[in-house]
Amino acid sequence: MNNYPKVNYKDIKLFADVTEEQWNDWRWQLKNLIHDIDTLEKVIELEAEEKDHLSKVLKKFCMAITPYYAALMDKKYRRCPVRLQAVPTIEELVEHEADIEDPLHEDVDSPAPGLTHRYPDRVLFLVTNICSMNCRHCTRRRLVGFEDKHLSHDDINQAMEYIRKNPSIRDVLISGGDPLTLSTEALENILKRLREIPHVEIIRIGSRMPVVLPMRITDDLVNMLKKYHPVYINTHFNTPKEFTEDSKNALAKMADAGIPLGNQTVLLRDVNDCPSIMKKLMHELLKCRVKPYYIYQCDLSLGISHFRTSIVKGMETIENLRGHTTGMAVPTFVVDAPGGGGKIPLMPNYLISQSDRRMVLRNYEGVLTTYTQPEDVLSNCGRCDVCKDERYKPLDGVAKLLRGEKLCLEPKGLKRIERNN
Ligand SMILES: *Cc1c(COP(=O)(O)O)cnc(C)c1O
Ligand code: SF4
Repeated sequence: MNNYPKVNYKDIKLFADVTEEQWNDWRWQLKNLIHDIDTLEKVIELEAEEKDHLSKVLKKFCMAITPYYAALMDKKYRRCPVRLQAVPTIEELVEHEADIEDPLHEDVDSPAPGLTHRYPDRVLFLVTNICSMNCRHCTRRRLVGFEDKHLSHDDINQAMEYIRKNPSIRDVLISGGDPLTLSTEALENILKRLREIPHVEIIRIGSRMPVVLPMRITDDLVNMLKKYHPVYINTHFNTPKEFTEDSKNALAKMADAGIPLGNQTVLLRDVNDCPSIMKKLMHELLKCRVKPYYIYQCDLSLGISHFRTSIVKGMETIENLRGHTTGMAVPTFVVDAPGGGGKIPLMPNYLISQSDRRMVLRNYEGVLTTYTQPEDVLSNCGRCDVCKDERYKPLDGVAKLLRGEKLCLEPKGLKRIERNN
């Protein structure tokens, strides 16, 4: 059932003399990243115009493709979904009016080097700028591929100190760059230190390695990771074409080590902006024990406007999944709010109408149904101890309004309020 293509790198001119041992060694792969046009031309066919465009883009942005991922590219077809994610196109030089340097304010909301503390109980910890390759659609292209470095010891110390001093942080999300570019020892050092902090309940790692460099998922690595459970890994598959024997094996290794796997897909024009492709992708993920977690609307980062779709495309994708296939195959579609507001979920509308007593809902088939609500709708909440525990109460937001702890939320600088003060 799970038969995935084996990558035949020997057929590619550039890799004809590479031994199996070299090919399967992640350090060899990283040493042999494809950075220039001459090398790339030994893997795929490039037309004169494409080469001209490439040389212009490479003056501004770096190209880095792992030999493994390069071997998945279509040799001839320029719009191949793998190739589009790896090989720069001239559109990267277009500056769209909507483009923003740091759209998610990851640098603004940063209390310590590498840390973004946006949500009350969890932090994003960017431990490196280095990636195994430079994805063309990368949200963090402001950081990745320019100054290649891991976070310094000093910076890590400062970030650890911040986490240690903030008992509200129960979830640390290690990302980058790609944290798996760190040596297993260096990564272990970070995990060990996080595990010494009692209030850190879960650790998450975001990595594209299973997609672009599955050789990185070694026995050593998973044996190390499983010492620090609960450790979750989220990866980043964007198209069914990215599934191979190697990626399947890498995912299996991690799942066998008891690491729950999730996937974050970015909605990308010409790569996966088709509900059928997305459905196939979600099925491939589940077959490999990966739970589809998020589909992201493409961010407003600089030079990626050609990858953006309408937001409606993401909602159409969800419409095509929910009910039509396994519920576990349905991720949450989110827009990461420009300006640092965080992820905002969007989905088709299933609520058609409502009265005091009844809600009219629709299902995926278009059937309209009614749910009659109880007359006595008050719940008996607020009696047990969990409810009294500060950690489980909302600090902010609409949830706080619902609890009656606040009467209203008002934007800062509201003219009406200023007038009356
Ligand atoms: C996405 C993100 C998180 C994690 O969000 P979840 O919805 O919990 O997966 C945390 N911090 C930042 C800054 C993020 O962008
Ligand atoms: S792996 Fe992630 S962070 Fe690295 S270039 Fe790709 S999208 Fe960007």
